Amino acid sequence: MLVSMKEILDRASTENYGVAAPNVSNSLDVNAAIEAAEELKAPLILDVMWNDDMFGRPNKGVRDFANWVRTVCEKASVPIAINEDHGPSFNAAVQNIKNGVTSVMVDRSSLPFEENVAQVSEIVKVAHAAGISVEAELGHVGQADNYEHDRDAALTAPEDAVRYIQATGVDCLAVAIGTAHGAYPEGFVPTIDFDRLAAIKAAVGNFPLVLHGSSGTSNEDLYKVCRMGINKININTDLQAAGAAAVKAGGRGGVWRLAQQGWKNKLLEMIKIYGSDGKAW
Ligand SMILES: [Zn+2]
Repeated sequence: MLVSMKEILDRASTENYGVAAPNVSNSLDVNAAIEAAEELKAPLILDVMWNDDMFGRPNKGVRDFANWVRTVCEKASVPIAINEDHGPSFNAAVQNIKNGVTSVMVDRSSLPFEENVAQVSEIVKVAHAAGISVEAELGHVGQADNYEHDRDAALTAPEDAVRYIQATGVDCLAVAIGTAHGAYPEGFVPTIDFDRLAAIKAAVGNFPLVLHGSSGTSNEDLYKVCRMGINKININTDLQAAGAAAVKAGGRGGVWRLAQQGWKNKLLEMIKIYGSDGKAW
């Protein structure tokens, strides 16, 4: 069934577990994600980018694809939210809402605090009027290939998180606690600031927090953050890598089927680590 992201994350925050939010962009990964969630009876969040215009090019067929994704989510036996990932503009948020997401993420984390609050509040007003939840980011989650610089450049301050949530009315908040987007150099493992996460959660109380850039973080650390207040985990690079590795290993079924199976197996593993298996309602 299709639900708002707020509904999924409020439960996850109260019961203290994390929900997987894989990036999906085609029917193979959408089907694999739903199969994994159904097999484990887990709630699921699909992170999508459904702009009519992508990187300056018309995004052909996006509305037909969006309609299909909504239909398969409605038919699924587990609760699923569809979330616009890293919405770049007010117009993109409205387009994505028109195309059927049940949540928008508005990333203004590179802007000064007051400007971030102003732009996000504007979208919260529109989204909430349409019954759509809003995720925003405070502090800034940087890039894995620039980790040494980005790691400490903009970690989230607990007191700012409280002020930000009150000022914007967002439904969940992505925080910077030491992860980064994309792939780290071979063999590199990022360091999570657990004390900061504990301080943020203590400050915001029973309010859902989001981890971006989870790929490359050890399973042990991911297990831990999901019991310390992280309730949504964005995952992309590790799933792609698992799909690619499965293709490389070869086997029966053709390249797409192998990639899909590898991607799905990794997601099954992560859902159990996040602790959302058996949490569907
Ligand atoms: Zn992100």
